[in-house]
Amino acid sequence: MVMQWYPGHMNKAKNQVQDRLKMVDIVLEIVDARLPFSSRNPVLEQIIDQKKHIIILNKSDLADPKRTKDWKVNFEQEGTKSVELDAKHNKGLGKLKDLIRGELSDKIAKYEANGVKNYRIKAMCIGIPNVGKSTILNRIVGKNVAVTGNRPGVTKNQNWLKTDLGIDLLDTPGILWPKIDDPKVGMKLALSGAIKDKIYSPDDVAIYALNFMETYYIDELMDAYEIDRTDLYNSTTPELLMNLTKKFGYKDDYDKASRKIINDVRKLRFGRITFDVPGEFYEE
Ligand code: GDP
Repeated sequence: MVMQWYPGHMNKAKNQVQDRLKMVDIVLEIVDARLPFSSRNPVLEQIIDQKKHIIILNKSDLADPKRTKDWKVNFEQEGTKSVELDAKHNKGLGKLKDLIRGELSDKIAKYEANGVKNYRIKAMCIGIPNVGKSTILNRIVGKNVAVTGNRPGVTKNQNWLKTDLGIDLLDTPGILWPKIDDPKVGMKLALSGAIKDKIYSPDDVAIYALNFMETYYIDELMDAYEIDRTDLYNSTTPELLMNLTKKFGYKDDYDKASRKIINDVRKLRFGRITFDVPGEFYEE
């Protein structure tokens, strides 16, 4: 296992997030819709306590829509509401706003019963690096950003962003690091671009990707690289990588071929793929 995981690092992030949790009504946990399990951080569950919490399946434009539906059902069964979002193209913000207000309906009803008109909902975004926290923040805040300044008891330099949606957002999202004790999770994070490419060797990641597609997206794989079904069945995944390397004209440069395959996955050459399959993680 090459990935380093620094407990000290993790603890610091955890404490920071925990401190800030106290200041908000609701936590928006952002995950990569291609990896709704692997891009979650188990630490959050331990510290989130009774706090209201929803999951944003961001980058849904890259994920398999059928699987995104499955994941929403899966989270709902576990008691957490989720919503898909494509922050890059600004799709799904309305649903997100409705969900936030829905989750806080008791609180909102109280405000309204007491005649409080200009109540604000306080929220913060949390997630591992690269899931799109800053992009979402910008989308939610939109053009009419107004920094409301420090408040007593609030961590220094911690500002609230006022938004049109009646939501105040902490201006710095909480960053949690992915916890990678299953090498499969590491491969998936590498494939999505969430962790630095140099942490894993590209051929490991490419072989992981090819193997996953052979299992779940075989037609897409065959079409994209014009592979014959019998050829596919008659070779192991490392053999398939060797054959593809030749086919790409890269001689025996498996690294180059691996990087191409990883890039092709990221650029949707095989269509929209979700690498976490609901249920898969509970069997082990
Ligand atoms: P952060 O590290 O969580 O703050 O992530 P960023 O907001 O910096 O986003 C990381 C990368 O993902 C950037 O290149 C964004 O353009 C991209 N990104 C963010 N949201 C989406 C999305 O919904 N779809 C796609 N395709 N890319 C996104």
